[in-house]
Amino acid sequence: MAILPILHFPDPRLRNPALPVARVDDETRRLLDDMLETMYAAPGIGLAAPQVNISKRMIVIDISEERNTPYYFVNPEILARRGNEVFEEGCLSVPNIYENVERAAWVQVKAVGRDGQSYELEADGLLAVCIQHEIDHLEGKLFVDYLSELKRGRIRKKMEKWRRHTL
Ligand code: ZN
Repeated sequence: MAILPILHFPDPRLRNPALPVARVDDETRRLLDDMLETMYAAPGIGLAAPQVNISKRMIVIDISEERNTPYYFVNPEILARRGNEVFEEGCLSVPNIYENVERAAWVQVKAVGRDGQSYELEADGLLAVCIQHEIDHLEGKLFVDYLSELKRGRIRKKMEKWRRHTL
């Protein structure tokens, strides 16, 4: 396994819609394993392939305290959503920024797992938020897009300053 470099906002590569995965093979599994390791090391609770410059519709999530319950979503699709909930969100591609975002409180998702089998999942709470946040990444969308233009501009400035100090 390998830890992959994470792209940061406002990197334009985060804006490209990701391509569907034709089939789950050994190469796909290797990428999913690398993504999981990268997410655990960051540390984070969710990571989408475009964040590590892989334009494929793949997501890994683990919201467990023990960090031992990974979810793999290949070609995920939201089938249904219900209700509204506001959560304070962060993102590995927008470090040190936390803002409230309103999303559906419950979602039903269809995806293909690491074993290549398709499955359906119903989620609420943090898992529902995380799934919606990560699926947005596959469309080139970031959580800062839900904020006002003014706020997003301030975050962009902060990120550019942060980058100058760390790189
Ligand atoms: Zn994110």
